[in-house]
Amino acid sequence: MDLAKHHKVIIIGSGPAGDTAALYAARAELEPLLISGNQPGGQLTITTDVENYPGFPEGIMGPQLMENFRQQAERFGTKFLYKMATRVDFSGDVKEVEVEGGDVYTADSVIIASGASAKLLGLESESALMGYGVSACATCDGFFFKDKHVVVVGGGDSAMEEATFLTKFASKVTVVHRRDELRASKIMQQRALQNEKIEFLWNKSVLEVLGSKESGVSGIRLQDTVTGEEGDFACEGFFLAIGHTPNTSVFEGKLDIDETGYILTKPGSSKTSVEGVFAAGDVQDSIYRQAVTAAGSGCMAAIDAEHYITEKAFQAEATAG
Ligand code: NAP
Repeated sequence: MDLAKHHKVIIIGSGPAGDTAALYAARAELEPLLISGNQPGGQLTITTDVENYPGFPEGIMGPQLMENFRQQAERFGTKFLYKMATRVDFSGDVKEVEVEGGDVYTADSVIIASGASAKLLGLESESALMGYGVSACATCDGFFFKDKHVVVVGGGDSAMEEATFLTKFASKVTVVHRRDELRASKIMQQRALQNEKIEFLWNKSVLEVLGSKESGVSGIRLQDTVTGEEGDFACEGFFLAIGHTPNTSVFEGKLDIDETGYILTKPGSSKTSVEGVFAAGDVQDSIYRQAVTAAGSGCMAAIDAEHYITEKAFQAEATAG
């Protein structure tokens, strides 16, 4: 594969934001290079049915949806490089992106769409049952837990929001928190505490998720954080709501990032603090975090990058002439 080392646009990330940015950039004849990261397709590749992405009235499997995204971007000339970006230099007019193995690619502009990762507890059973009763997205998967008893782990706003959302479907929602005090804002706490379908288990940490791929989740093993006592708790679904981590470690110190790690963009655009560098999707969005919003912001980033490149070429011509 011919991957010339200088490009008009390099896109970092291959979820809905990165692939959509690639589609639009390719159709604008910017011949983008997309550096996929180590989870090509992003977070949707670890979900099963996606029923809230418009255009698929019967739903679509997450991995299939992302394969469709990839093919559509490729059809218009996007080149994919299945590697991790390991270092960037945005200090000059020409932006540099180094990938694992040491190759350095340069570009007139860069679109960062490296996404975010749901924080996991780090349990083997949790990973094994992901998509089989374990989920890190109530908005995506809540619907599959109609009349079931589910557990939400976490004590922040996400946990309160997800628990409250899940009561639309679940017969009962148990919030498991490792302390006896919630981190969530008062209003979100109140909403959850007043909801009759939600109960709280305090001072408990989750040691294991019980169940199998064949039969789904059957319960969790808990440990009391005060007494150390262990015991099993029956449930049919397990939702993680312990926060997300934007994938921005490689960009630290290279552009403005907020205190929780999200890239800051100018309101109503994908522009970052560095001219010629744009950001789209979950890496700059701690609020909506949906595939469709990520795709929309990927489109914005490609349009912003195209304007930037056109303007730069125009200025260069004007200077030369
Ligand atoms: P968060 O505020 O960081 O809360 C994470 C929660 O998960 C905390 O209660 C924490 O426990 C717990 N936790 C973390 N690691 C854990 C582990 N390994 N095991 C067990 N529990 C663990 O994250 P968030 O709730 O996702 O919120 C992130 C940001 O988004 C916040 O600023 C929040 O206000 C905002 N947000 C806003 C809304 C809204 O306004 N609608 C909705 C969602 C999120 P400890 O408390 O013991 O540390």
